[in-house]
Amino acid sequence: MRGMSASVHLAMEQLKMNGVRMTPQRHAILSCLMDTKSHPTADEIYKALSPAYPSMSVATIYNNLRLFVEAGLVRELTYGDDSSRFDADMSDHYHVICKNCGRIVDFGHPPLHDVEKAASEETGFVVHGHRMEIYGLCASCHNE
Ligand code: ZN
Ligand code: MN
Repeated sequence: MRGMSASVHLAMEQLKMNGVRMTPQRHAILSCLMDTKSHPTADEIYKALSPAYPSMSVATIYNNLRLFVEAGLVRELTYGDDSSRFDADMSDHYHVICKNCGRIVDFGHPPLHDVEKAASEETGFVVHGHRMEIYGLCASCHNE
């Protein structure tokens, strides 16, 4: 087995405590997500892993991603009609999205608690959270 990062090991322990059995495929999917900053789709994960795991189906990827999301290890980024992307970085951060190539880059701005507070004060809502994304062209698309 390849060297296992501390975060993958911790995530596996957390799944085990939730009664989730760790299989080689499940471990590969989790490692793949934790090793990348590219916010892949299920299909991209499938393409990356299928050479090493030829018997793995896209459905297996989806089922495992759903399981990881439910366990709080991974977050799902939904974009209307486009397929979801997945992020194993659960820390507070925002995303900058390229409208041309779809690249999603992490943006480490502090959470906008003041905006949530203002929304609550103006509308009387009990605010649970917010979603903010920055759109534009990434450096390579802009320079084309
Ligand atoms: Zn781009
Ligand atoms: Mn991210």
